[in-house]
Amino acid sequence: MPCFRCGARQTDPVRGASPWRRGVRADRQVLICPGCQTAHDWADDLDRCAGCGTAALVCRLGEVECRDCGHTREAAPGDLVHSGAPPAVSSSEGDLSEEVAAALTRVLKRGPAH
Ligand SMILES: [Zn+2]
Ligand SMILES: [Zn+2]
Repeated sequence: MPCFRCGARQTDPVRGASPWRRGVRADRQVLICPGCQTAHDWADDLDRCAGCGTAALVCRLGEVECRDCGHTREAAPGDLVHSGAPPAVSSSEGDLSEEVAAALTRVLKRGPAH
């Protein structure tokens, strides 16, 4: 996951605590690179805990949890879930083939024209 501000990608995972910080933005887990953390307003773009106001939030399993005070709230449903209904199948095709079949039958029944 790249940094949400500058798009930098996390390189060489280091042992121990990562200098990258995690946050939640618009109910999505995001990462902030060490460089962007030096900006004084890096947390302004992040969601804040409703309980204590910190930006140290984690988003998981549809919940946003504050790592400082433990306050949790439901994350907004993400991508609008499509209904899953199959696309409406036009019946014209079936009707058309039936019409054609009926027309052929009529022609065949009529026999060769004289
Ligand atoms: Zn960055
Ligand atoms: Zn909190």
